[in-house]
Amino acid sequence: MPMQDPTSSRDGPPPTIVCVDCGGTAHLLTRFRDDEPPEPGDRLIYRCEDCNDRWDLIVDEEDFR
Ligand SMILES: [Zn+2]
Repeated sequence: MPMQDPTSSRDGPPPTIVCVDCGGTAHLLTRFRDDEPPEPGDRLIYRCEDCNDRWDLIVDEEDFR
């Protein structure tokens, strides 16, 4: 059986990220249903509350470790 890290979470993508441009908080716009969690290759859209920039992130395998 593979080692399980109890601190790791598979609850999905972070609800916010730090905006690379201004350091503000960018909020996740994309919603996922509990029975349809994001998979590698899915697109996450964040919107910065400060500069209103949009950030598209693609879910990759790293998010599922
Ligand atoms: Zn920003």
